[in-house]
Amino acid sequence: MLGLMMNEPLRIAGLLEHAAKWHAETEIVSRLAEGGLHRYTYAAAHLRSKQLANALSELGVSNGDRVGTLAWNTHRHFELYYGISGMGAVCHTINPRLFFEQLVYIINHAEDRLLFFDLTFLSLVEKLAPQCPKVESWVLMTGRAHMPEATTLPDLRCYEDLLAAHTSDYEWPMFDENTASSLCYTSGTTDQPKGVLYSHRSTLLHSYAASLPDGFNCSARDVVLPVVPMFHVNAWGIPYTAPMNGCKLVMPGPGLDAASLYELYEQEGVTFTAGVPTIWFGLLTFMREKKLQFTTLKKMIVGGASCPPALLKAFDEELSVEIRHAWGMSETSPLGTVCTLKPQQLNLSPDEQFAIQTKQGRAIFGVDMKIVDDAGQELPHDGVAFGDLLVRGPFIAREYFGADQPGGLTASGWFRTGDVATIDPAGFMQITDRSKDVIKSGGEWISSIELENLAVGHPAIAEAAVIGVPHPKWSERPLLVVVRKPDSEISKQELLAYYEGKVARWWIPEAVEFVEQLPHTATGKLLKTKLRQDFAGYEFEKR
Ligand code: AMP
Repeated sequence: MLGLMMNEPLRIAGLLEHAAKWHAETEIVSRLAEGGLHRYTYAAAHLRSKQLANALSELGVSNGDRVGTLAWNTHRHFELYYGISGMGAVCHTINPRLFFEQLVYIINHAEDRLLFFDLTFLSLVEKLAPQCPKVESWVLMTGRAHMPEATTLPDLRCYEDLLAAHTSDYEWPMFDENTASSLCYTSGTTDQPKGVLYSHRSTLLHSYAASLPDGFNCSARDVVLPVVPMFHVNAWGIPYTAPMNGCKLVMPGPGLDAASLYELYEQEGVTFTAGVPTIWFGLLTFMREKKLQFTTLKKMIVGGASCPPALLKAFDEELSVEIRHAWGMSETSPLGTVCTLKPQQLNLSPDEQFAIQTKQGRAIFGVDMKIVDDAGQELPHDGVAFGDLLVRGPFIAREYFGADQPGGLTASGWFRTGDVATIDPAGFMQITDRSKDVIKSGGEWISSIELENLAVGHPAIAEAAVIGVPHPKWSERPLLVVVRKPDSEISKQELLAYYEGKVARWWIPEAVEFVEQLPHTATGKLLKTKLRQDFAGYEFEKR
């Protein structure tokens, strides 16, 4: 017997319709690529998204067509999220930090019909165009005043002209909630990027789950600034959770430096923000130098890479911000776990509580997870056993877009994350490594992330990476590669001595190398494949 409730499909357009009706006057403020701030309301954003949907229809875009964006977090990108997905097409957000060949590959692989881009990317797009023949039109996201006088682009259009030529008289169509809504390619470190194709249903379910008190904890009283870009996993879903909850939205545009962010936090009364550890390091350094405090910022999410405990402590104790560690990936929409304490942990000592807060956290509703050994056997939740992290749920990818082997991801019914983790008896998951990065010394695993976190906790160290290097006796031993802070002095011996008493003796790196900088992927993660190439053939000195 079926239930007797209305069968209204979950659709992305419904989020903006809701915000425009019930939070009509709530603002969206954006810093623009052309310079200056733009300010309007959800009601106005809704009307312009409908104008855009009319324009797309006229350009021949229909159900399931891919429309690309190469853009910062701004109100125009927000309109594209709703205009494209809302009309039934697929909003393909492209990460401009990818290598040129990868950009060409994904635009062609996605078969984007139109490509919308910010002024910042004009010369990049001019180089891409000859290699992306399937793109019919290129749309510059600006007004007439900023259009270039000359360009090599075959069919360049102006975003504001396109909107101005269309009315907002548009009814969002009804369709199956499993319809594809958006596409985001993950930047593999070795393979070609792979496309994760989200649906309206997965996006809405993720928004509900992410909004919950032990997740982002969003409310209509919040002012939200996503530093995490809209070109990477939909800015962790914030462009959807903000209208769902009626939050004021502040979009930083290309201004991701600490001074620009701080100015927006203070000027717009931001209460909640989200981003990767690198951004928060920069902000912390800036605020320490200038002796600044936040007036309104209370909550912050850090994720995308492991957050060193020293950073969590600094935001909490020096800047009075409740900083939550979260884990996720493109394939999980992205939120998988968030770290907030359970009631029985509130009686623990501050140090014990802090040790829990450094973990990646508990599964949010909609995500089930387990850890397994090499034979696929489930491992205990004892906080000690390490294993491959597997997840499943309604907003987790079941296969990649245009995959050669459909169904390959879910043969076991679980998605293999490629991360290695422990889960403690209270359900807190802690990532110890990417599976390709684990170091096995004498048959036992050593967590490179834990060694890196300790290194960056040292005041002289700016960034650290630990890789496994072949060793005649132990098969592999950890090599610590670090970037020192400017003007700081520390010897290799001092750094190794610093590990004494903090980890088991056999975990202490075998050697230290100083470098000017470490290699990163387009999304700012340490590129250990490159580092391993750089140190191929490395030999430890005999001790
Ligand atoms: P992406 O799909 O590009 O967002 O990358 C996802 C990967 O980033 C995950 O599989 C993890 O390896 C890493 N990651 C994300 N969040 C965290 C975190 N809080 N701690 C450690 N690694 C993380």
